[in-house]
Amino acid sequence: MESRYNAAEIEPKWQQQWQESGIDKTPERNNQPKFYALSMFPYPSGNLHMGHVRNYVITDVIARLKRMQGYRVLHPMGWDAFGLPAENAAIDRGVPPAKWTYQNIAQMREQLKQLGLSLDWEREVATCSPDYYKWTQWLFLQFLDAGLAYQKEAAVNWDPIDQTVLANEQVDSEGRSWRSGAIVERKLLKQWFFKITDYAEKLLEDLDQLEGWPERVKTMQANWIGKSVGAYLEFPVVGFDEKIAVFTTRPDTVYGVTYVVLAPEHPLTPKVTTPERQEAVSAFIEEIQGESEIERTAEDKPKRGILTGGKAINPFNGEEVPILIADYVLYEYGTGAVMGVPAHDTRDFKFATEKGLPIKTVIIPPDGDANAPLSEAYTEPGTIVNSEQFDGTLSVEGKTKIIEYAEQQGYGKARVQYRLRDWLISRQRYWGCPIPVIYCDDCGTVPVPDTDLPVELPESVELSGRGGSPLAQLDSWINVDCPCCGKAAKRETDTMDTFIDSSWYYLRYSDANNSEIVFDRDKVNDWMPVDQYVGGIEHAILHLLYSRFFTKVLRDRGLLNFDEPFKRLLTQGMVQGLTYMNPNKSGKDKWVPSSIVDPSNPVDPDTGEALELLYATMSKSKGNGVAPEDVITQYGVDTARMFVLFKAPPEKDLEWDEADVEGQFRFLNRVWTMVTSFDRAKITKSSQELSKAEKDLRRAIHTAIKEITEDLTGDYQFNTAVSELMKLSNALKDAKCETSSVYQEGIETCLLLLAPFAPHIAEELWHRLGNTESVHKQQWREVDESALVVDEITLVVQIMGKTRGTIQVPAGSDKAALEKYATESDIAQKYIQGKEIKKVIVVPNKLVNFVVAK
Ligand SMILES: [Zn+2]
Repeated sequence: MESRYNAAEIEPKWQQQWQESGIDKTPERNNQPKFYALSMFPYPSGNLHMGHVRNYVITDVIARLKRMQGYRVLHPMGWDAFGLPAENAAIDRGVPPAKWTYQNIAQMREQLKQLGLSLDWEREVATCSPDYYKWTQWLFLQFLDAGLAYQKEAAVNWDPIDQTVLANEQVDSEGRSWRSGAIVERKLLKQWFFKITDYAEKLLEDLDQLEGWPERVKTMQANWIGKSVGAYLEFPVVGFDEKIAVFTTRPDTVYGVTYVVLAPEHPLTPKVTTPERQEAVSAFIEEIQGESEIERTAEDKPKRGILTGGKAINPFNGEEVPILIADYVLYEYGTGAVMGVPAHDTRDFKFATEKGLPIKTVIIPPDGDANAPLSEAYTEPGTIVNSEQFDGTLSVEGKTKIIEYAEQQGYGKARVQYRLRDWLISRQRYWGCPIPVIYCDDCGTVPVPDTDLPVELPESVELSGRGGSPLAQLDSWINVDCPCCGKAAKRETDTMDTFIDSSWYYLRYSDANNSEIVFDRDKVNDWMPVDQYVGGIEHAILHLLYSRFFTKVLRDRGLLNFDEPFKRLLTQGMVQGLTYMNPNKSGKDKWVPSSIVDPSNPVDPDTGEALELLYATMSKSKGNGVAPEDVITQYGVDTARMFVLFKAPPEKDLEWDEADVEGQFRFLNRVWTMVTSFDRAKITKSSQELSKAEKDLRRAIHTAIKEITEDLTGDYQFNTAVSELMKLSNALKDAKCETSSVYQEGIETCLLLLAPFAPHIAEELWHRLGNTESVHKQQWREVDESALVVDEITLVVQIMGKTRGTIQVPAGSDKAALEKYATESDIAQKYIQGKEIKKVIVVPNKLVNFVVAK
């Protein structure tokens, strides 16, 4: 047997054996508690990067630990496989999206297998496979049946040259199409929506249950849902019967309204615009038509608005106020109109000042002056003024009183509003899950019957990136008989947002190969919820919110008996690489790939200019990536795993550092040498009474078990757990009892504790110790509390305050005993040498200081 640590030999060997023995298969249901460990599944781009490695290794350590701790573990993997890149590859290279995707999956699966992840590949899912999307379609029909899927007109990004709909990511920062370069227009299309707003309150409320989620993620979700409590008020339009409805969270300021703003798209806009303002208003609407919502509402952009000439009446005081339209008011949000209160709203103050609109104070701080001009908006609570019968009321109480008054008068009421809007799920794309509905002239919108599912994506579709939805061009596919009346009808040609595919995949893993039903209820209720979910913070809002929404809807449909999918969430940090930047260049050109830089003399090879060094998230464009396969070739995957776990706490960003990778490689080599040079034959049974060396080693062993178990419970502090492993290996190296059974206990414990982190080397060395069963099937070690008890302490001996040495004394000795041990010690004998002891100072458990005559 080779005696050198050779990762390249042992890693593939054990991966092969584990696969053959089926060790990572999900156990059948039994008496053991369950644990569901899940990484967010990847998009099959074709290449595994360090960010993936970090994510999956974290989950793998947890899965391996839980198995050793006696849980039956579900640890699956799959592919979020629909989406735009496959379609682009087809357009650019003529490869069919399915072929491109499955090739990438095959490649990434092989890369993943090299990481030694304890995954159950028999439960692999790919969202682009008809076996899977059949059930995505079935679930869509459940939403439709529940009244949670509906159609309405909504704006899309329209490329007028290519005559096609663009995704947001296909529109550049200047609002141009990525392909044709045309200025993108907004166009209204009838599209499908999911009514997530029906669940806004539940989604918000239940965040409180999620104790195992980072606060940051919960806050982001709460802000996205954006609940505000306030009032719905109606302002009559002068000269017409219509009223302008507004929502406000500050009804206490309603007497300070000096104007009303409509969204330019508001149906009342043309009506309230006076003939003399017609031309200016039309020009303004045209100007902002092409702008995205993000551009229109950006905080840092000046707000643009224009008078319509129309007037509205403040129903509270009968005052006539001008009606404007402005870019920052969106028709899709709220009522599509807002009231302007410049004295008490920062944005309104700025807008009114720029437009020369009046500013009227209606709330003042204590000692404030109701008539003094303001230099900025006063947004704090205070006392109501200039508000008729409400004068003198505190603004906090005024809110309720003013709403009550509006309700009595019939022009307003209390209302809760959410920022969350319904989920637009239609995509005018090919590589997605077809929406399973048929349009019939007589029967209307007809769901495809369950027995006809899946509606399969046709394979022979020409993808050019031009023209309408690719499926719309396939007459043979579109034309079908109506499932209700049998007359000629047409299929829906849009596909679903890929976020739908990923909103339920974690449920499918519980019964991944079921061809009869979406999942067996007993199985899904047994495995769910996911006990530990691990993934990137970029999914903090949409994916996690949609998954929670799906779970709640399916619970309400009786398909599940729980309503939160993920019990604990860990959002791992990014992997950053050493990055070279030329400060004299701008844009993408400023990044100089590390592959062309000499680290001992970092200059730009083009210009000779000195480069700046920094750490930045690994990416192709910065040329600062480290390929997982290179690290595996050089050091082995166990070293790579140890490094990503050791270098930073899991939720923090990690800076790639070659020296630290080397450090972990050396550590594994030390463990290798220590274990391979251990000789079991030399072990003699310890006598009943352990020697001091044995006691010290046992304490080190059980301290390691205790600390590592604690580090891996709750917050998963892998970095400190690896440090503890290193401490244990040092204790074994220094132990002066290599022939003791305690030493054997130490060697074995070290491998058991190492197993979740570096599974291959732990397995190899475990077998070299003479074991025949896998290290991964062993029980996690329990702490022997008695081994932790310290029975001796180190006592410092000082003469005249100066430390002269230390002695070992029994723990728990009293002051008199400590003084006696110290006085009798060689140190005291040597330094006192017959001088008169004037005083002895004893600090229990720490030191004894002798004050002697000079
Ligand atoms: Zn019909």
